[in-house]
Amino acid sequence: MDRRRFLLTLAAGLAGVAAARGVTDLVDTAEPRATATRASTAPPQPAASVAPVGVPGLVPESPPAGVVSHLPGTAGSLALTIDDGTSSAVVAAFAAFAADSGVRLTFFPNGCYRSWTDNAAALRPLVDSGQVALGNHTWSHPDLTTLGDAEVAEQIRRNREFLRSTFGVSDTPFFRPPYGSHDDRIDRIAADLGHPTVALWNGTLGDSRLLTAGELLAAARRWFTAQRIVVGHANHAAVTTVYGDLLTLLAERGLRTVTLADVWAAPVERLRGSAASPSLPR
Ligand SMILES: [Zn+2]
Repeated sequence: MDRRRFLLTLAAGLAGVAAARGVTDLVDTAEPRATATRASTAPPQPAASVAPVGVPGLVPESPPAGVVSHLPGTAGSLALTIDDGTSSAVVAAFAAFAADSGVRLTFFPNGCYRSWTDNAAALRPLVDSGQVALGNHTWSHPDLTTLGDAEVAEQIRRNREFLRSTFGVSDTPFFRPPYGSHDDRIDRIAADLGHPTVALWNGTLGDSRLLTAGELLAAARRWFTAQRIVVGHANHAAVTTVYGDLLTLLAERGLRTVTLADVWAAPVERLRGSAASPSLPR
């Protein structure tokens, strides 16, 4: 029995426990601010000769300029995106979860938290293989709409340099404004600094605040559906106790996890993907 099979079997065993925990309605609204006001432009399809980064049958498109808050297409894909990283233990648990299960994740780290450098050695191979993608969430998580242009640029630039020096990632198109708080001015500054795609979400684990395992699973049951971008956080330990249940839910619903870069890859990433080994973890 391989490790993934073991985890899935374990998860199946835990499913009954999870069901017994009950479901509570969440008051969180999943839609971040300002998502409905702007439409992203559909990029042209890449040439057929461009190989996928890492998911069979999924050819990445060029990253759109502007806001994305769901995945294109109708295939059963889910993008699980994990933000912040205030807890080094939780980031370590996510790295182990990814390595053990093959789940594909997109992280939006704030470089001010030591969790990312603490766990860089564990994360780096996952980043190199494409199983983990990264985006810019600013250096220290301010509401950017309250800052002047120079401060906004410094928040983005400093975290961009952090992603490059810590993970060797210099070409991520993705920017996620803290709290989903952004406007045209913020988006323009991010684009000027190399992040044309404002990656929001349309589903949430709701775990920016402290939740119980039952509340987390209720959120996952509500939002784990095809083509959603779901946001979670590497801040509180509760999520680390439900990994098996999340795998069960994904399997029951026939969902495959994808990174944002699997869906929208910059040209250099597509080139790198075309040269990559076909035996990437899934
Ligand atoms: Zn955040």
